[in-house]
Amino acid sequence: MNREVDLKEITDGKFYTLGDMVKVGCGDCNGCHVCCTGMGNSIVLDPLDVHRICGVTGKDFETLLSLHIELNMVEGVILPNIKSDEKEECTFLNGEGRCSIHSERPGICRIFPLGRVYDDEGFKYVLQTKECVRPIKTKVKVERWIDTPDIKRNQMFILEWHRFIKLVSGIISTSDGDTIKSINMFILNMFYLTPFRRDVDFYEIFNERLKNAKSALDIA
Ligand code: SF4
Ligand code: SF4
Repeated sequence: MNREVDLKEITDGKFYTLGDMVKVGCGDCNGCHVCCTGMGNSIVLDPLDVHRICGVTGKDFETLLSLHIELNMVEGVILPNIKSDEKEECTFLNGEGRCSIHSERPGICRIFPLGRVYDDEGFKYVLQTKECVRPIKTKVKVERWIDTPDIKRNQMFILEWHRFIKLVSGIISTSDGDTIKSINMFILNMFYLTPFRRDVDFYEIFNERLKNAKSALDIA
């Protein structure tokens, strides 16, 4: 989700890239799941997140919508996010207070307490200093912390998706109600409801769908 905030207030004022060391180590969150509580609708899921969660749970997107995921508006675009229960805890927390989908957890959870800041060139990471409640932190290389396979292609995907959603949001801001509805249905169908094959590289299919979506929406 995009937030308009004063970075000086919530970060250490530095920008990090994959090769940098950053003070985030928190003892594997042992005994703590503060970050998995009270997140509201902030853990917005991109198509790769949903693809991974469908794989690890064995459930399709529609089934997940009835259990762990909900839809909300992000700058006019309807996107899925992780759902909390009545105690405001993530519905993926298990009885021991651990993430039941840890190996396939969403991108936002993977980088936390890092956040992303986008500019014309791409994005950099920032350390959100008010998020983790554990006082002592060890230094970890950003790439290791993010723990994501094929990281360069993943970063390219994140950037492409971010730019695409920004452009769609711009179109929506000047469209009428029926058009907004059909654009949102189109995106949900193209990138979330229609499963991505598991025997073909995810990024390949995503890039093909993105190309088709841009052409359908007349986005350069
Ligand atoms: S998906 Fe896992 S890591 Fe992310 S908030 Fe839920 S329990 Fe926590
Ligand atoms: S507050 Fe810190 S230790 Fe607790 S779950 Fe979040 S990152 Fe882990």
